[in-house]
Amino acid sequence: MSHKAVGSKTKRILVTGGAGFLGSHLCERLVGQGHDVLCVDNFFTSQKTNVFHLLGKPNFELIRHDVTLPIYLEVDQIYHLACPAAPGHYQYNPIKTVKTSVMGAINVLGMAKRCGARVLQASTSEVYGDPQVHPQPESYWGNVNPIGVRSCYDEGKRVAETLFMDYHRMNHVDVRIVRIFNTYGPRMHPYDGRVVSNFIRQALRDEPITLFGTGEQTRSFCYRDDLVDSIVRMMNTEGFIGPVNIGNPDEFTIRELADLVIQLTESRSELKYLPLPPDDPTRRRPDISLAREKLGWNPTTPLEEGLKKTIAWFQSIDLDSYIPPTPNYK
Ligand code: NAD
Ligand code: UDP
Repeated sequence: MSHKAVGSKTKRILVTGGAGFLGSHLCERLVGQGHDVLCVDNFFTSQKTNVFHLLGKPNFELIRHDVTLPIYLEVDQIYHLACPAAPGHYQYNPIKTVKTSVMGAINVLGMAKRCGARVLQASTSEVYGDPQVHPQPESYWGNVNPIGVRSCYDEGKRVAETLFMDYHRMNHVDVRIVRIFNTYGPRMHPYDGRVVSNFIRQALRDEPITLFGTGEQTRSFCYRDDLVDSIVRMMNTEGFIGPVNIGNPDEFTIRELADLVIQLTESRSELKYLPLPPDDPTRRRPDISLAREKLGWNPTTPLEEGLKKTIAWFQSIDLDSYIPPTPNYK
């Protein structure tokens, strides 16, 4: 299928979840490119400080709004990122997570249909569940427990993909779907309970590093700049709607990640083994052949380099100025 990148003409762009970790970097990128950027967020898992630096810009606007409710805006493109992403956040109020995924998708798709806007869904590797195919290609339908503690997120995101495809087939809405694999970097919420933020926070304080299970489970970590590059490319590529995997195919055990964080922070932390949470995927690594072929995209930041930048950011912030969104971060 043919595809070509669209030029950088100024557009009105909505970013839902725009105050979050990935959303705030995306807003920054789009504002820098001169677009008229609308950031919609309810600040459930983020803080206004993530976008303070953009508030004075004439081409940036911040709206506090919950995407489970309709909103009427006139835009050309929508990046739909609003959804709690860390397990401790999405499991805190699982029913709200399902509502956010499903009703949020319906609301942005309705807006896209009315405005004739292109809309991109931030989907996830969690649609593959605990995968039995490794690495995971987009053609794999996944192995998801429909009734477990991760289901609110996994199934919510799967239904959102279904809605995107049905609005596309039925109403010709111009959609894009990216399946994001574990992404990390500066401005992750330090109390989100995700593995990178937990390990760095613990290592910097010489506290025990909490390893769940044996630490032999694997993940593949993508640096946030690589991720933002990929989704902007996906939004502006013609003739390819996805789903497409976005992630870094370098695979590490969680134990290897712990050792690397300890080494890079020169920490005296010791490893503390805790029970593995239910349904925790055993292995995860994206097959990114499709992203390479269709988007000409390849992640360029190795884990060690990205971790050094993330550690430097954690060292620069005042942890007391961050409010844990949920108690699930220890
Ligand atoms: P994040 O928690 O920092 O960002 C999510 C943002 O959405 C937050 O600002 C939050 O306040 C907002 N939000 C949540 N519920 C909302 C609601 N009902 N209405 C309005 N705003 C709401 O997480 P992130 O890592 O930046 O993730 C962004 C998106 O990317 C999410 O959709 C997530 O599922 C997806 N994703 C992220 C990763 C990753 O590793 N970072 C992996 C896969 C998918
Ligand atoms: N993990 C861990 N210690 C922590 C946090 C997470 O060992 O303090 C493990 C977790 O069990 C999972 C992996 O690290 O196997 C990644 O967890 P995260 O919550 O970052 O995201 P997931 O990929 O599971 O959604």
